Amino acid sequence: MSFDSLGLSEPLVRAVHELGYTTPTPIQTQAIPAVLNGGDLLAGAQTGTGKTAGFTLPILQRLNTMPAVTTASGKRAVRALILTPTRELAAQVEESVRAYGKYLKLKSTVMFGGVGINPQIGALRSGVDIVVATPGRLLDHMQQKTIDLSHLEILVLDEADRMLDMGFIHDIKRVLAKLPPKRQNLLFSATFSDEIKTLADNLLDSPALIEVARRNTTAETVAQKIHPVDRDKKREMLTHLIKQHNWHQVLVFTRTKHGANRLAEQLTKDSISALAIHGNKSQSARTRALAEFKDGTLQVLVATDIAARGIDIDQLPHVVNYDLPNVPEDYVHRIGRTGRAGATGEAISLVCVDELQLLKDIEKLIKRPVPQEVIAGFEPDPTAKPEPILRRGQGGGGGGGRSPRQGQGAPKRDGASSSAKPAQRSGQRPSNGQQQPKPQGAKPAGNGGQPRRDGQRHDGQPRAAAHEGSAAQHAPRKPQGAKPQGAKPQGGNPGALLGGAKPRNDGPRGGQPTRSGQRGR
Ligand code: AMP
Repeated sequence: MSFDSLGLSEPLVRAVHELGYTTPTPIQTQAIPAVLNGGDLLAGAQTGTGKTAGFTLPILQRLNTMPAVTTASGKRAVRALILTPTRELAAQVEESVRAYGKYLKLKSTVMFGGVGINPQIGALRSGVDIVVATPGRLLDHMQQKTIDLSHLEILVLDEADRMLDMGFIHDIKRVLAKLPPKRQNLLFSATFSDEIKTLADNLLDSPALIEVARRNTTAETVAQKIHPVDRDKKREMLTHLIKQHNWHQVLVFTRTKHGANRLAEQLTKDSISALAIHGNKSQSARTRALAEFKDGTLQVLVATDIAARGIDIDQLPHVVNYDLPNVPEDYVHRIGRTGRAGATGEAISLVCVDELQLLKDIEKLIKRPVPQEVIAGFEPDPTAKPEPILRRGQGGGGGGGRSPRQGQGAPKRDGASSSAKPAQRSGQRPSNGQQQPKPQGAKPAGNGGQPRRDGQRHDGQPRAAAHEGSAAQHAPRKPQGAKPQGAKPQGGNPGALLGGAKPRNDGPRGGQPTRSGQRGR
């Protein structure tokens, strides 16, 4: 199968060949003809499958062949809108639009929060065919009337499940309500929760259905490994592994922003170039860190889950879970950063005795045990007792990472508390009545009625004061079939763990906090 046999025109085929793509990936083989047909599409594809080219290439082709449209002021009209959950993903998708559309005369722009709005207004004024945006900033433009979407022909919701997880359902509905009703809609999502199905039902008209990656599966091309280690030896072990194997382009995940900062500082002291990337960093610091990491000048990028979303680096060779994630699905997303589009990659997890239950949950989710290897010199203490994950300030130095809960109960939606209430929401009607999503009845839509995750700005970025990795971070996420975590004891021993150097299974300790509340429920 080749790109030209999918019906793509020569300038697009030339551009992808120049990028080294010789064969379309499975999502591309299916999505490209479907989108070229002009119908709606519901696609199940995780990041790393080549989904971006799967929608971008046919959109470029359609816009290029359809008659150009101009606004009343004679400028190019926005004809395609791509919404993404994060700034990084928006920037990368727009980079792809430019790269694939290099030989076409179409113009694109990207817009997200955290940076000045004026250059975006300037770009819009000069006329663009394609806009890639995060929902919050797009709404800002819509409210300020600096964007005219009345000629929109194609809408893409990319990583729709992430958008719902991040509490964007209301923003999305507000955007949809203002779009011209006659348009092509493409919805890409890695998972199909009830909320996604509801959104798809409301948005899509007889869509083509494509699913290329089953949810919660890990790619065969990723070699996964656990290195059992004591919690206070993790940093030393990471330095040892990086130096011994001369690893470059290592993406390291920590549970908290504080942990990410500390680890990056410690690695730097160990003469390993490292920077942290998380929501407290300015957009320019994040962009710079990402650019240095991409071009290989930065050896290690330490990231929290939220900051890492959308990081798209070709053939990222090493992903390290310095802390295991609180939510098993995040493990799949994290290691999906490597082994992409056929390249092989390695995902290493440094697991201490505190994280055994988290490991057990992950193995259950991915339906296979992860092989373990004890590193000589780092044999874990077999008598070590599990401790509750992260007491404040422990993040970067030990295996922990959990911040204390941010107050009681569900997190508040920033700056929009009233609109987050399901009862009020169901009564909301857009003024023009166009593309009004059907009322959800008594069932709150999107995030199960939970107000937006605390710490999320409406542009998809964590607020400066937010504690990533805290209880609130995972509040709205409700994987189907997931059991409440509250009753589980911390530190259960999942059998073979720590191969040979088994910790004692002391079970829950009296009065010890459990993982209850990790989803902020
Ligand atoms: P995505 O799933 O869109 O994030 O794409 C994952 C990675 O695969 C990106 O870095 C793309 O550059 C790369 N990619 C996309 N399509 C192909 C292809 N047909 N052949 C090789 N690499 C590809």
